[in-house]
Amino acid sequence: MSSIAKLRSGNRLVLASHNLGKLAEFQELFAPFGLEIISAGALDLPEPEETGTTFAENARIKAHAAAKAANMLALSDDSGLCVDALDGDPGVYTANWAGPNKDFTHGMKRVEDALQAANATTPAQRHAFFNATLCLAHPDGRDVLYEGRVDGTLVWPPRGDLGFGFDPVFMPTGFDITFGEMPSSDKHSWSHGQIGLSHRARAFAKFVEGAIERE
Ligand code: IMP
Repeated sequence: MSSIAKLRSGNRLVLASHNLGKLAEFQELFAPFGLEIISAGALDLPEPEETGTTFAENARIKAHAAAKAANMLALSDDSGLCVDALDGDPGVYTANWAGPNKDFTHGMKRVEDALQAANATTPAQRHAFFNATLCLAHPDGRDVLYEGRVDGTLVWPPRGDLGFGFDPVFMPTGFDITFGEMPSSDKHSWSHGQIGLSHRARAFAKFVEGAIERE
C-alpha cells in the first residue's frame, strides 16, 4: 500500500485515544511541531472495542475507527506492560487488568500477586518492558505502524504519583527511580535526533522521522 503524505505544520490530526494519561504525554510530544492535534474525546468519537490479540491489531482498530469517523488522519497508541515471568502478560490486556473501573492500584497489585505466585523476587526475575505501537491511519484505509519499547524492572510497593497507569511500579533499566517518580519531561526525554526513554517517546521518534516533514 502506498505511503501517507508527510504531515506539515498546520495540518490536523486526531489522537485516537480516550486515555487522559496518554493524551497528556502526546500533547507534550507534539508541542514542537505546529500540528493541530484534536482528541477523539473532543470530537465525541466512540471508543471502538479492542478485539485484536496484538498491539498492532488494536492500534489499527483504534486509528481506522477515528480516521473514518472524523474523516481526518488519525494516530492511535496501543500499549501495555509485558512481564517475562508472566509469559508476557498482561501485554495487550494491560488496561483490562485494572478492572472495569480502570483502577490501576488494583492492576499493579494483580501483577504483583502474579509475580509472587511465580516466585519472582530478584530484579532479573522481575524484568518487564513497556511496548507502544502507534498507528497513523488515513480515512482511505492506508496506515503505517511505529513501535517502541523500554525495558525495566518491576518494584513493589508502588513509588511516586507522577505519570499514569503502571508507572509507579516500573523502574527503567539504568535508573533508580520509577516512571511514577520521574517528571514527564524525563520520561519522554525526546528531542530531534535523540532517542527518548519511554516506549511512547521511542515510537514517537520513529513517527516523527517517517511521517512529519522537516521544515
Ligand atoms: P490501551 O493501549 O488502551 O490498551 O491501554 C494500555 C494500558 O497500558 C494503559 O491503560 C496503561 O495502564 C498501560 N500503559 C501504557 N503505557 C503506559 C505508560 O507509559 N505508563 C504506565 N502505564 C502505561
